[in-house]
Amino acid sequence: MNESINLLDFDEDAMTAFFAEQGEKPFRARQVLKWIHQRFCADFDAMSDLSRLTREKLKTVASMTLPAVTRDTAAADGTRKWLFDVGNGNAIETVYIPEDDRGTLCVSTQAGCMMDCAFCATGKEGFNRNLTTAEIVGQLWQANKILLSENVNPPWVDAGRAPITNVVLMGMGEPLSNFKNVVAALKLFLSDNAYGLSRRRVTLSTSGIVPMIDALKDACPVALAVSLHAPTDALRDTLMPVNRRHPLSELMAACRRYLERAPRDFITFEYLLIRDVNDRIEHARGLIELTREVPCKFNLIPFNPFPGSPYAAPTSDRLFSFQKTLMDADLIATIRKKRGDDIAAACGQLAGQVKNRVRYRLNEVSKRHETLREEKAKMCATKHRVCPSTLSVKKEIL
Ligand code: SF4
Repeated sequence: MNESINLLDFDEDAMTAFFAEQGEKPFRARQVLKWIHQRFCADFDAMSDLSRLTREKLKTVASMTLPAVTRDTAAADGTRKWLFDVGNGNAIETVYIPEDDRGTLCVSTQAGCMMDCAFCATGKEGFNRNLTTAEIVGQLWQANKILLSENVNPPWVDAGRAPITNVVLMGMGEPLSNFKNVVAALKLFLSDNAYGLSRRRVTLSTSGIVPMIDALKDACPVALAVSLHAPTDALRDTLMPVNRRHPLSELMAACRRYLERAPRDFITFEYLLIRDVNDRIEHARGLIELTREVPCKFNLIPFNPFPGSPYAAPTSDRLFSFQKTLMDADLIATIRKKRGDDIAAACGQLAGQVKNRVRYRLNEVSKRHETLREEKAKMCATKHRVCPSTLSVKKEIL
């Protein structure tokens, strides 16, 4: 078996191209996609509508390799957390949140994260690498397969749907820093020959990498959530280093552009409330002003403390006053229910296992680029020509 071609890395176009290379018709690609992503089959021999010759050929050139579950933890409220081995001592976390009318899966897109947000357990772990498309989609595949095998499925499974009805890219990592693999995974989530989810049921959450929000709008617009967490650049700079590169005015403009093609007519702003940091009425008033021209909803998330974190959760009074201030301004502001708190599966608590970390983080990358930019500017000035952007290395990282 050739491990180098993993069919779970292929979206529909890539699968079709692969089958064309094998001298097969396009419909074979669709058949195999359905076997893998709708029947959760990872065994060529079981693909009974393929000829024996095709199955034997596939076995020699391709594989169907999935991340393996190494730990399965259930919370009292039904939330599940799976730890997936992604090689070289690294593990990522995926959370399943069952509700009466939906089953939501929160998937990871990177082993670790380099965005270095001050309040985030994943950010504190550092960064190892981007996940492959197979590793991102594999989380959804495994969750569906496990839930189906347990035969305790929600009613919509009887109607032929998979247990997972909604996917949120809010686990470990910044999805827009792993753009190519994430977009291929999104296309599989949406494809009628794979998971067939509507764009409204797939939500990508970003820390706010402005050029990549525009790129997502063009490549595969799904519902967008933006981690805001502060109403001013001065405060957001201290909580989220990405803000120093993409300040709030640019972020709000990108959100307005995204809405031109978004499947929902609003952006969800996630706002983590941290005691005495960003939880006062003046912060809520700042948000009202900031988002005046962006149709939006707020999802307020009380901070979940994790070991070593310097921050605390807001008091209930502060939380509800904050919500009321937004709602009095005719904004929709919900408070996210705490789920999976007892298994460290709540927002901001996912840490996985990140080995062989990249030692630099976003702050350090910024400094490195400033130095590079200055050096390049000096060189360009000497040559008397216009200096091109020197930010390509950072763009690759982001
Ligand atoms: S909040 Fe998101 S973007 Fe920020 S460090 Fe954590 S995982 Fe990365």
